[in-house]
Amino acid sequence: MNVLVINCGSSSLKYQLIDSESEKVLAKGLCERIGIEGSCITHTPEGGEKTTTESPMPTHTEAVKLVIEKLTDEKVGVIGSLSEIGAVGHRVVHGGEKFAEAVVIDDAVIKAIEECNDLAPLHNPANLIGIHSCQELMPGVPMVAVFDTAFHQTMPKKAYLYGIPYEYYEKYKIRRYGFHGTSHDYVSKRAAEILGKKREDLKIIVCHLGNGTSISAVDHGKCVDTSMGLTPLEGLIMGTRSGDLDPAIVSFLAAKEGLDAAGVIDVLNKKSGVLGLSGGVSSDFRDVGAAADSGNDVAATALDAYAYRVAKYIGSYAAGMNGVDVIAFTAGVGENDFKVRAMVSSYLGYLGAAIDDEKNKIRGEETELSTADSRVKLLLVPTNEELAIARETVRLV
Ligand code: ADP
Repeated sequence: MNVLVINCGSSSLKYQLIDSESEKVLAKGLCERIGIEGSCITHTPEGGEKTTTESPMPTHTEAVKLVIEKLTDEKVGVIGSLSEIGAVGHRVVHGGEKFAEAVVIDDAVIKAIEECNDLAPLHNPANLIGIHSCQELMPGVPMVAVFDTAFHQTMPKKAYLYGIPYEYYEKYKIRRYGFHGTSHDYVSKRAAEILGKKREDLKIIVCHLGNGTSISAVDHGKCVDTSMGLTPLEGLIMGTRSGDLDPAIVSFLAAKEGLDAAGVIDVLNKKSGVLGLSGGVSSDFRDVGAAADSGNDVAATALDAYAYRVAKYIGSYAAGMNGVDVIAFTAGVGENDFKVRAMVSSYLGYLGAAIDDEKNKIRGEETELSTADSRVKLLLVPTNEELAIARETVRLV
């Protein structure tokens, strides 16, 4: 069955058409600047050239229409007609406490996703627009919602409650939800497979180090803790997000800079992380690494702080699980930046974890990075959220 995987943002739409039998990506692409002037679609068929076409997309419906046109196009298309799409898998960011796994979309599911909008005001409404547009243009095609938060729903209360009055959890559902769940699920499963073991027999820490960054503790197959919280702002230092800080900084900075709370949160989301810490060099680790290599001390400190924070989280999850068997690195930085992996691993000697510097030179391929006598296995496991969404979609339809 061909599964169309859709990841809708407020002004963008990413897609992949995946053949679920061979698990091959038949085509992929991106619609950008939806609702803004200058919208364009970039489409790449399997084994073919990437093409970018400018085309007006006032709403996501036009974007989905264009995706279908590209997929069925005589020249750059990969299927004869719409009837060759068996199902659509939608990435949905926030499922609140309502969804502990993926579900087939119906009216009740849409209503329940709407009820989570409050928790992800930037993401969920965009995800819903994508769902509605696909329903309009592909009537009768089964659709599945795969939630970023679902995998983390197994966390125990002691891990997901904040140390604030309990009534705020009861009234507003303020708690840790966690994100990147599809990736943490996929990578922890794959890590066990690579080692020829069952995930249910292992204590795994997954380090999803991308532009957005999160860590999770997967104890015998279940997520027991994760670093992102009510929103993706909590936890590690990220590309542009601050991660953990003293909450009193919000009012302090607001007073000093003449901002309101939302203004400070905006700084913490968009101008902080390695971008801010490096004194504005970049949110991209390639640039920050290059600056550090050429003698920029502030950039070097930003990377030090980043790796130190990752190592502290690994330590706290090893403590929380009373041990760890496997630490897996994934996402843009985790898969490609051997220096960051080496910096993080340099803190892990107390766990008996040792990285093999030769093996660690690899990029983007499933690899065991640890030395033969390392007590904890260090792995590089490229994530594949689209494939995970396609698999969930097929499983449910
Ligand atoms: P997201 O999906 O959160 O946007 P990704 O997982 O794609 O993020 O990661 C993107 C980040 O990965 C880039 O911002 C960059 O910092 C980092 N990255 C990608 N390639 C490399 C590389 N070769 N070396 C170091 N960092 C890299």
